[in-house]
Amino acid sequence: MNDSIFGKIIRREIPASIVYEDEDILAFNDIGAQAPVHVLFIPKRVVIPTLDDLQPAHAELMGRLVLAAAAYARKEGLADNGYRLVINCREDAGQTVFHLHLHLLAGATLGRFGTP
Ligand code: AMP
Repeated sequence: MNDSIFGKIIRREIPASIVYEDEDILAFNDIGAQAPVHVLFIPKRVVIPTLDDLQPAHAELMGRLVLAAAAYARKEGLADNGYRLVINCREDAGQTVFHLHLHLLAGATLGRFGTP
């Protein structure tokens, strides 16, 4: 279970700058921020390696992950100017941690979607 760097963060084995937590979700600042605000939202109690591993049973959890990110953006005053949510799936998208996570990017005008 939780056999990744994010698992270590969940178990408090390594430090992270945690900005939000509830029963199922942990959110912390990305160590390699790509925008002025770059927060990762991750499930705490289930490890889903990639988007390709999603099952119908994960639908509620995924909805809660998105809702938590949107609520955080609203609370932090980011929603009016806008923000982006990203999930990278495997190599071509540049996924490096195989514990499904949602990137919240905000705080500046973001470039358009990645192109090769
Ligand atoms: P991805 O490339 O979509 O798999 O995203 C993984 C993200 O995790 C990257 O943006 C990394 O900068 C971030 N990351 C890796 N290790 C840590 C860490 N210890 N604390 C916070 N963010 C991390």
